[in-house]
Amino acid sequence: MSTLVWPSTFARTQASARVLIPRFEPSRVGRDWRACNFGCTLDLVGESSLEVVVVESARTAEVIVVGAGLSGLCAARELVRQGKDTLVVEARDRVGGRMVRKSVTSGGWIDLGGQWIGPTHNGIRDLAESLGVTRFDSYTAGDTVLCYNGALSLIADEFPPVGPVAGVSSAEVEEAIRVWQQFLALAATVDVERPWLTPDAQALDAQTVASWLAGVTTSPFARFFAECWVLAEFGGDPGAASMLATVAGYAAGPDEEEPELWLLHGGAGQIPELLADELGGRVLLGQPVFRIAQDTDGVTVTTGDSTYRARFVIVAIPVHLAGAIDYSPPLPAGRIQLTQRAPMGSVIKYTAVYPTAWWRNHGLSGIVVSERTVVAVADSSTPDGVPGVLTGFVSGPAAVGLLEESEDSRRRGVLSDLVAYFGDEAGRPEQFIEMNWPGEKWTGGAYNAVLAPNTLTSFGPAIARPVGRIHWAGTEASPRWPGFFEGAVRAGYAAAHAIASRSAVTSGH
Ligand SMILES: Cc1cc2nc3c(=O)[nH]c(=O)nc-3n(C[C@H](O)[C@H](O)[C@H](O)COP(=O)(O)OP(=O)(O)OC[C@H]3O[C@@H](n4cnc5c(N)ncnc54)[C@H](O)[C@@H]3O)c2cc1C
Repeated sequence: MSTLVWPSTFARTQASARVLIPRFEPSRVGRDWRACNFGCTLDLVGESSLEVVVVESARTAEVIVVGAGLSGLCAARELVRQGKDTLVVEARDRVGGRMVRKSVTSGGWIDLGGQWIGPTHNGIRDLAESLGVTRFDSYTAGDTVLCYNGALSLIADEFPPVGPVAGVSSAEVEEAIRVWQQFLALAATVDVERPWLTPDAQALDAQTVASWLAGVTTSPFARFFAECWVLAEFGGDPGAASMLATVAGYAAGPDEEEPELWLLHGGAGQIPELLADELGGRVLLGQPVFRIAQDTDGVTVTTGDSTYRARFVIVAIPVHLAGAIDYSPPLPAGRIQLTQRAPMGSVIKYTAVYPTAWWRNHGLSGIVVSERTVVAVADSSTPDGVPGVLTGFVSGPAAVGLLEESEDSRRRGVLSDLVAYFGDEAGRPEQFIEMNWPGEKWTGGAYNAVLAPNTLTSFGPAIARPVGRIHWAGTEASPRWPGFFEGAVRAGYAAAHAIASRSAVTSGH
């Protein structure tokens, strides 16, 4: 007789079985247990030899948090602060999700995921300060390299540029500025808390950024600049991203508030590490959650090899991955549909490390805006420029185009772009690191979810609305600064506070 721990994720045909069922799931021990909706069917040849053994295998807590990214860890920290017994279950063998750092051979750290913060990011600022993480100004002095139509121009750090651009008429530059102003004017009309209530929401949501641009300008240069913003901020294909979601994204995290003003000494990726250290044994790694079942008393969270029981659960993972979990009872139809319309953008992040930030001596900021494969570059070195670190981003369709290539071929292509922007020295980094986010199973892409047309107006409220005992966190669930660290922190705290107030009410009865 073989022994299967409930719920088994594989179907078997065999003469007899012994099934271990956790103590809190006695309702499963019935005639229909074989057809439980977790997708497992045991086809026993001789059912009379079935033996059901109820075991105490579950770890219990008041709240289970799914996902040890910034949002989940912030939720857990806040719940623990409020005296709630909390466990965090994380699929990977590391914490941090889209925040991850790597040591540089010659000393120091670089971020393979998110890195910048800004002055109005109060949540992440306060968090960093509370953990003793200090910040410095991201280096932007000097000229930006603009690469368009195969020609390079050096421009001031203006978006779009105000000065002359090689191979582009001044009329086209003015048109780019006009179109960008039109984009900003639309962003100013957005209802940030409830973007689906924005005037003309339906019409905007029915368009992609590319189709909106095609309607407002015939200038390829103007389109290039607006699309650059979408690629740089979302990493999404302007031909697939909803125009409403894009202007709402701008309104919720505007450039005027300088979200990329500061970098963190030691890297942003140390923040989840420090949070996890604080939470200690409450963070459990290598625990991908496959199933969440709710009943009148609580929730049962099932991972690959364990089962957890709690009163509430916070799901703090990207929306499309939340859609891959098996829920019992099933989620409302609107939430199911939402999760099918929130794919991650496509970004591959590159880091080239040099002995010094030599481009600074040539009057260059290290910033690039380009139509080539590497669409954006920034100086990510510490203030002294030792070592020198250039961070490059391949985004949207360009990233998709590289996914089938070998890592070596991608490396050659990226270095050749860096040489085109900065000269031969850029082709000789002492360390070169690729982070292929679309290949990361437990993220699925970068930077964030890129909502498809007609998603916000049809299913927007479902992003953060709790479903019974399930609360949603993750940066995408935050009305302000979604897609940024700040959104992740806020969504984590919001879910923790919502649960704390619910449990205060229920414990009073
Ligand atoms: C390349 C890149 C650059 C960026 N740059 C910036 C920047 O400069 N500034 C900024 O503010 N933001 C930036 N961002 C965005 C920022 O990193 C994210 O918004 C933020 O880290 C998201 O945190 P999160 O906790 O919501 O989600 P995540 O970080 O995605 O965390 C989710 C966690 O859940 C885990 N998980 C997934 N599925 C399951 C499951 N079924 N069971 C258990 N665990 C699961 C994942 O492994 C992960 O650890 C960048 C992102 C990327 C990728």
